[in-house]
Amino acid sequence: MFVAVQIPYVSPEIAKQFPIPANSFCIAPGLMSVQSRGYLRMKTAQHDGPLEIQPNFLAEQADVDALYAGVELGLELASQPAFSELIDRWIVPPQRLAKSESVAFIRQSCSAYFHPVGTCAMGIGPESVVDSQLRVHGIDGLRIADASIMPKITSAHTHATTVMIAEFASRLITQEKDMLTTAAEGI
Ligand SMILES: Cc1cc2nc3c(=O)[nH]c(=O)nc-3n(C[C@H](O)[C@H](O)[C@H](O)COP(=O)(O)OP(=O)(O)OC[C@H]3O[C@@H](n4cnc5c(N)ncnc54)[C@H](O)[C@@H]3O)c2cc1C
Repeated sequence: MFVAVQIPYVSPEIAKQFPIPANSFCIAPGLMSVQSRGYLRMKTAQHDGPLEIQPNFLAEQADVDALYAGVELGLELASQPAFSELIDRWIVPPQRLAKSESVAFIRQSCSAYFHPVGTCAMGIGPESVVDSQLRVHGIDGLRIADASIMPKITSAHTHATTVMIAEFASRLITQEKDMLTTAAEGI
């Protein structure tokens, strides 16, 4: 998925190498169905202790290949006549690159898409945290309703899905309250 944003959107490493004018804009590819998997690890036994966060970007070749195709398509888009009056010059990358150069560029310029999910995944396996009603396994009266319960990352941005999870949670809670009220009235 491409983002087209009215700001220079580059990693600190790239910003150091290429002077980025303030009035630049960006066409950037983002991976939606990422194959690489990272991890979070607690560094101490304290629940609020420091975490090791290892995203493992581009660990899988499929992700490198998909981003390479994305950069090529982005440059193709930027070459179209419709953009000719908007684009004075390319900045990052400044010109078409050979495949090996492009892959090196991708490894340097890749950054997070800010969509972490799944640390309290819904499911029934040993790694899952909540059931299909958002209830934490083994703890009464506790639900989780946020992006952490997604068992897999969505193949789109995550905000709308998070709002949907919240709507689902509110329905579950109000239905439960109605059932309890009806049961209490029946006593
Ligand atoms: C820079 C950035 C850009 C993004 N752009 C997009 C986008 O364009 N489109 C899109 O769909 N998604 C986007 N996302 C992703 C989207 O914002 C998240 O998927 C979504 O906000 C997740 O919602 P959440 O409720 O799980 O977590 P959050 O929105 O992070 O909410 C967690 C809340 O808990 C609060 N909190 C934390 N600790 C405590 C505590 N101890 N006590 C009380 N409160 C606490 C925090 O203050 C926060 O309000 C972006 C994310 C980032 C970071």
